[in-house]
Amino acid sequence: MARICLVGGVAVLCVAALTLMPYRTVARARGDTAPDRGCRATMVWPVSAPKVTEAFDPPPQPWNPGHRGVDLAASDGETLLAPADGVIAFAGKVAGKSVVTIRHGTLTSTFEPAETDLPVGSGVEQGDRFAYVAGASDHCDGACIHWGLRNGNDAYLDPQARTESRKIVLKMVTES
Ligand SMILES: [Zn+2]
Repeated sequence: MARICLVGGVAVLCVAALTLMPYRTVARARGDTAPDRGCRATMVWPVSAPKVTEAFDPPPQPWNPGHRGVDLAASDGETLLAPADGVIAFAGKVAGKSVVTIRHGTLTSTFEPAETDLPVGSGVEQGDRFAYVAGASDHCDGACIHWGLRNGNDAYLDPQARTESRKIVLKMVTES
């Protein structure tokens, strides 16, 4: 399976993706189209001009305080772009906060404060406009958007690392 991929780092990303999704038919039945994209394992920023205002700062233990995502400068009403292919999994209030989530296969992106006009279950492709900055949040009040990323075990990942992996791929291709 790794032969599909080209060089070192890319192969690692792809093997990981293929291991998570060994059965394409199962993935399709769940409405996930990511495996069809082959080796593309990276994400794009949800805003057109990304500026990180607070980086990911995972807690040492799940019950400790930390920053379980990345904050990007964003204004009220600003359009949000899907970081990867997926399905709108939730849109509504969580503890008074406006939240929209996208499920990308085993990963889930959470955005707040955000609202969407798309019904839950709608498919989105990477880069699609899927929501906008709106509503209430306890730490992004009208000036930023919080993007959290969870894996299938509910562990939080650094979204910034996913978006920057594309740069690593380009560099490796150039050097080879
Ligand atoms: Zn945040």
